[in-house]
Amino acid sequence: MQIIRSVGELADYVAMQKNHHHSIGFVPTMGALHAGHISLVERAVEENGVAVVSVFVNPTQFNNPVDLATYPRKEEEDFRLLAKAGVSAVFAPSVEEMYPAGTERDHEYNLGSAAEVMEGKFRPGHFQGVAQVVHRLFELVRPDRAYFGEKDFQQIAVIRNMVESEHLPVEIIPCPIKRAEDGLALSSRNALLTDEQRLRAPEIHAALKDSVAYAANHSVRATHDSVVERLDAVPEMRVEYFEIVDGRTLMPVEEWDEAEMVVGCITVYNGNVRLIDNIRYK
Ligand code: AMP
Repeated sequence: MQIIRSVGELADYVAMQKNHHHSIGFVPTMGALHAGHISLVERAVEENGVAVVSVFVNPTQFNNPVDLATYPRKEEEDFRLLAKAGVSAVFAPSVEEMYPAGTERDHEYNLGSAAEVMEGKFRPGHFQGVAQVVHRLFELVRPDRAYFGEKDFQQIAVIRNMVESEHLPVEIIPCPIKRAEDGLALSSRNALLTDEQRLRAPEIHAALKDSVAYAANHSVRATHDSVVERLDAVPEMRVEYFEIVDGRTLMPVEEWDEAEMVVGCITVYNGNVRLIDNIRYK
């Protein structure tokens, strides 16, 4: 596996793959890799001539400086896992290499109304930062396919809008959420939980899962409230938002039959650690 630190080296690597007519599968990550990331990587390896993974903690998508400073980093271990999974090249640049002219954004992306709700509302600027880094990475890696996890359900919709508005020739491939055996969605941030917080964390998925059965004979509003009440009652937990939305537009629904696909998206503070998850109702 080639470890690439500079934009120039990456351009050479990509040009070489294109010359050999190898399709490129790409997985952008912020490192501290777990089995969720690796499931995306394995698909990229399987479905393409070569797989490229980026490991870059992108400062422009963090609206909270403490979150950025405490974000887990373990590059050596990440590289070991990626090599084992059959990755051809990892791109792990410095902040200066990614943003030579500084991290200030000079371009406002058209991300549609999907970027205004939920994460967009509670993390101002977050999706503009995500669009900025993913756009830059797509320009450098020029992938045929890019793989994203459905754990960040809203992010996939926003990336699709960015790809469409910037006319980028890349196929976006959504991949299912990987969970721990107790149901907790795998996340790099889980490493920040205390033992007690970790023991309580599976309540998030349990509440969502139980709410699917509950939804069969309750309204959207009652289902929503049952999840929020249950999780807010767990020590150290606080629901930031729970929204039941049209899975395509991400706009809230009031009735179950309002949309073909209905998804519940949640963000919960477990102590100081912000965790997200979602569940499909239909
Ligand atoms: P991150 O490093 O958190 O930016 O995540 C990189 C990619 O991995 C994103 O597309 C995430 O949606 C995806 N991902 C993170 N956790 C999971 C998980 N538990 N299951 C599937 N995909 C995931």
